[in-house]
Amino acid sequence: MDKAKYIWMDGKLVAWDDAKIHILTHTLHYGNGVFEGTRAYMTDNGLAIFKLREHTKRLLNSAKITRIKATYSLEELEAAHIELLKSNNFTSNVYIRPLIYLGYGVMGLNLAQAPVNTAIAAWQWGSYLGDDGIENGIRVKISSFARNPVSANMGKAKAAANYLNSQMAKYEALEAGYEEALLLDEDGFIAEGSGECFFIVRDGKLISPPNDTSLESITQATVLELAREAGIPIERRRITRDEAYISDEAFFTGTAAEVTPIKDIDNYIIGDGKCGPITKQLQEAYFDVVYGRNPKYKHLLTFI
Ligand code: PMP
Repeated sequence: MDKAKYIWMDGKLVAWDDAKIHILTHTLHYGNGVFEGTRAYMTDNGLAIFKLREHTKRLLNSAKITRIKATYSLEELEAAHIELLKSNNFTSNVYIRPLIYLGYGVMGLNLAQAPVNTAIAAWQWGSYLGDDGIENGIRVKISSFARNPVSANMGKAKAAANYLNSQMAKYEALEAGYEEALLLDEDGFIAEGSGECFFIVRDGKLISPPNDTSLESITQATVLELAREAGIPIERRRITRDEAYISDEAFFTGTAAEVTPIKDIDNYIIGDGKCGPITKQLQEAYFDVVYGRNPKYKHLLTFI
C-alpha cells in the first residue's frame, strides 16, 4: 500500500503510522460502520475530487440508514477531505476512504451507547481491476452467493457489514480463476458486482438493472448521463444471466473500477472478447469528465 503522510481523524491530521484505534472498537466486532470510496484525479489543473458532494451525501445517508448519528456536517466533511488532500502533497491519482464508525467504550449490540468516530484516509492508487482490465476487459464469474436481499439488508447504505457478502463472492471468483464476481438477487436476476454496477449492450441499447439490490452508484449515474447525452438508448430493467451471456458488450462501473469492460462471464465470451465500441466510447467520455477535459462537467470537480 502506498502510504501517505497524514490521515484525518476526528478533526486532526494524524501521521499515517499513528492512525490507530483500540481493539475493542465497536465496529470491528459488530460491523456497523459506513464508508465511501471517492477518487481524486490528477488533472491538468492539479488534483481534483470527483463528485465530492454526491459521495459525502451518500456517506451521511448511509449513517442515517444504519442508525449512526454522524458528528460532522456535509460541509465539515467536505472541508476535511480538502484539508487532507492539501496536507499530503500527492503527485498522482488518489483514492479517498472516509469512514464513520462506532468507537471504543461499550460492547454489546446497543449501538446507541457507542461513541461515533470519523476518519478519512487517502492514498495513491491506480486502477482497481488493473490497467490491463481497463484496456482489455476482465473475466467474471456469477457467484454462488446471492446479493444481500432487501428483506434482510439495506443496500442503499454503503455499510461495512454489506461487504461480507461481497468478499465471499470475490474470493470465490478469484479462487476459480476469474477476476470479479457478479451477484444475482434472490430471484435470480443480476444485482451487481462485488463492488461495481453492471451494464450490458444489446443491439445498440445500453441496459443496467434498477438499484433494487445494488448500491445507488455514483459512477453508474455518470455513465448513464453520458450515454443519454451521446444519444445511446437506455433501459433500466432486470437482466437474466442468459441475457448477459448473449450480450454484445458488458462492463462494470464503480468509483474504483471506473468503466471496466468484461470479456467473459462464466467463460461465455462476450461479443468478440474485447472492449466493445459503446463501452470504449463511454469509458473515454468518463475519463474526459473525471480528468476535467470536458468543460460541461467541470463543476463536478473539487480542485485542491
Ligand atoms: N456496488 C457496490 C457494492 C459497491 O461497493 C460500489 C462501489 N462503491 C458500487 C456498486 C459502485 O458505486 P460507485 O459508482 O458509487 O462507486
